[in-house]
Amino acid sequence: MTQKIQPTPMMVQYLGIKEQYPDAFLFYRLGDFYELFNEDAIKASQLLEVTLTSRNRNAENPIPMCGVPYHAARGYIDILIEKGYKVAICEQVEDPKTAKGMVKREVVQLITPGTAIESKNIDAKSNNYLAALSITGEQRFNLAYADLSTGELKAAQLSSVEEVINELSSLKTKEVVFEEAKHLELQSDLQTKLGVMVSTQKAGEEIAEFAYLSSDVENMEILSALKILLLYLTMTQKRSLAHLQKAEVYTPANYLKMDHYSKHNLELVSSIRSGQKKGTLLWLLDETKTAMGGRLLKQWIDRPLIQEARIKARQDVVESLINHFFERIDLNEALTQVYDLERLAGRVAFGNVNGRDLIQLKTSLSQIPVLKDRIALMNKGEWDELLSHLDTVPEVVDLIEQAVDENTPLSLKEGNVIKDGFDRQLDQYRDAMRNGKRWITQLEAQEREKTGIKTLKIGYNRVFGYYIEITKSNLANLPEGLYERKQTLANAERFITPELKEKETLILEAEEKSLALEYSLFTEVRETVKHYIERVQLLAKTVATIDVLQSFATVSEKHHYVRPELAYGSQELTLIDGRHPVVEKVLGQQTYVPNSVEMDEKTEIMLITGPNMSGKSTYMRQLALTVIMAQMGCFVPAESAKLPIFDQIFTRIGAADDLISGQSTFMVEMMEANQALRHATPHSLILFDEIGRGTATFDGMALAEAIIEYIHDHVHAKTLFSTHYHELTVLDEELTGLVNTHVGAIEENGELIFLHKMLPGPADKSYGIHVAKLAGLPDDLLSRAAVILDRLEQKEEIVLETTVQTEEFQTNKKRTTEKETAVAEEAAGQLSLFGMADKNESSILKALNELNLLTMSPLEALNVLHELQQQLK
Ligand code: ADP
Repeated sequence: MTQKIQPTPMMVQYLGIKEQYPDAFLFYRLGDFYELFNEDAIKASQLLEVTLTSRNRNAENPIPMCGVPYHAARGYIDILIEKGYKVAICEQVEDPKTAKGMVKREVVQLITPGTAIESKNIDAKSNNYLAALSITGEQRFNLAYADLSTGELKAAQLSSVEEVINELSSLKTKEVVFEEAKHLELQSDLQTKLGVMVSTQKAGEEIAEFAYLSSDVENMEILSALKILLLYLTMTQKRSLAHLQKAEVYTPANYLKMDHYSKHNLELVSSIRSGQKKGTLLWLLDETKTAMGGRLLKQWIDRPLIQEARIKARQDVVESLINHFFERIDLNEALTQVYDLERLAGRVAFGNVNGRDLIQLKTSLSQIPVLKDRIALMNKGEWDELLSHLDTVPEVVDLIEQAVDENTPLSLKEGNVIKDGFDRQLDQYRDAMRNGKRWITQLEAQEREKTGIKTLKIGYNRVFGYYIEITKSNLANLPEGLYERKQTLANAERFITPELKEKETLILEAEEKSLALEYSLFTEVRETVKHYIERVQLLAKTVATIDVLQSFATVSEKHHYVRPELAYGSQELTLIDGRHPVVEKVLGQQTYVPNSVEMDEKTEIMLITGPNMSGKSTYMRQLALTVIMAQMGCFVPAESAKLPIFDQIFTRIGAADDLISGQSTFMVEMMEANQALRHATPHSLILFDEIGRGTATFDGMALAEAIIEYIHDHVHAKTLFSTHYHELTVLDEELTGLVNTHVGAIEENGELIFLHKMLPGPADKSYGIHVAKLAGLPDDLLSRAAVILDRLEQKEEIVLETTVQTEEFQTNKKRTTEKETAVAEEAAGQLSLFGMADKNESSILKALNELNLLTMSPLEALNVLHELQQQLK
């Protein structure tokens, strides 16, 4: 029989709290467990694979329930956060012994994907950023972001949704906060495009820390985003955010700009195929010894510099490190002893630091004098600035040295955290404990003697305290009434004496007092250390910088890189015998064929032809990575390098579909091309790999040619353009800033051998069938392809001579789906040759009339004719 019952006071409390956190799993503390109820329980039991039970099983509506043990909760929380949920931790906030009625409970922390700091999913060398966005004025996007674990706090103003997406995707933000009910369109855009969690924050009172943290920020609009971010952090974390560093406003235009397509294409921090670090620029350059250095390296890869002086300052230090091998070895040795100072500082502020953390802090700080010493030996001025920031923070080292025991256990509750001699009162309690214990050992010996029972022993357990234990077989020898009987076990009896109990009280009291005192002493130490957080953070930044620079030096020396000569405003690019650093590392230096890139002031476009698989895209990537490394301050893989300082890099390399937004390859190709053509300046670098390949031959070729002309006439950026359209190589006759190069390949007995060597002039053919042969296609198929190719080539000649459409052209055109054509026209609107959209005959006649045949190539004429004809159909 089921019975209807009123909700218990506990459930009333639960429901009241849950109401405030509808979008989070509420972990409700009950004894040694966190319990979840209702919907939360049903969902969590599936996600966490824990058993679903119910409360009041006999009631009409039993309440679904599941629980996780308190001590193992971390792992379960991590799983939920990783899956993109929030978890509200609800604890008892008063002592159950003194509470009247229901023990008060409150949510003490809301853990979200962007605020998780202790998860094992967070890699030491990665940041976990939480971002906030506001939009002000006419489309000004204010971005603020923080890494709660390191205290980093930054803000910037961006001018388009694209820039927002670029920044957020390179920060790998998992969560973005908006002010409640604002910018709903952008909210859902980010959710779908980037897959981030969107959280909202009610506008609220100014928080105490806000004034200080934002004191360097003058722009009121940026402040609006910062405010949302800090409010959200305060509301979710409900504790000190003392480790947050003053907000630093940066200007994206002060760094080499690359959109997220380019970063992705160039495999800067994650590989296209596996998403892993292996095979990326980060993988190549990461010889950092500290977690902070690892994180900074990632940030530098994301934002190479554009100011000549700043780049040179980094190069000077790298050079100094390369020239001082032994000092560098010592320096690296010291760096390996430095723990994650930023995250330690964060833990100090958060109040969840333990004794071992403080010992790590001390060990780390003790390395700073070594660093200073070695650097002083190398310094000829280039180290001055870094050296001036190497603060040894002696106050903290001394305090921890005096207070905290080297062998402190992990838990603060076990004692032995504070050193003997640090506090007199603590020493006294400890004496009492130790004396008491000694007394007990003596008592054991004494009673053995007295009773003649050699196996008599004194033990301790939590329930009965100290007791004398005598095995059953010896009981007969025990004089009746000597001890007071306390407990009977299967093969022994346990006794106590008034004397033993008296000592026990003394010992336990001393123990209890000593533990409580230790805890409060430790808290005092931690609070004192808290005053030095800012200094520790500044030091952490300096150590991270030194670490990244030593990483550059180590990699540069290992792979024989050279210091590039950089000049802002220069248009000369001379890279002699350059190498693709990652491919070289994978293939080995012996196998890799170096290639130069030489473009004088007048050369804007290098048109690269050559067989598939010969090394065209490797050559282009080589240049991009070299530029990025150079502008980060690293040396570069070449015999010598003279490079302009670029403001932006645009790429269209590889044919990966944009899985994020579900665009087709060709659409992505056009969008990337569009980005470059619209935003590149004469100081930009454009890399286009086989543009136009994604559509039908004539379409593709026409677009490719028009793009080249457009860059040549309007953009003037240094451009590498690889193509398999041989027809384009004649462009060098018309375009003065264009040069042809090709990748060498030789045919031996019908076999194709790639030389991977760039040679001047155009390639003679495309070797597609040879590549197919290399790939192992059936012989019959290959011979058939050769016959078809022959026929096509003959027909193509006729087409070009007579500008009459042939059967092949028609079939080609049919293959171009209508969608692709529409997409191409839309994306490259400014490229569309005549931009005619309607089917009106008179407008077609008008367009025909306006054609300037003298300035058109046969191919262009053919394309236009075809387009006009299509419109008549
Ligand atoms: P393409 O863009 O011409 O199709 P890739 O640049 O993708 O060709 O190169 C194909 C393969 O050739 C690469 O994966 C690499 O293994 C090899 N390769 C490219 N350039 C070189 C080089 N300079 N030296 C040695 N091997 C190279």
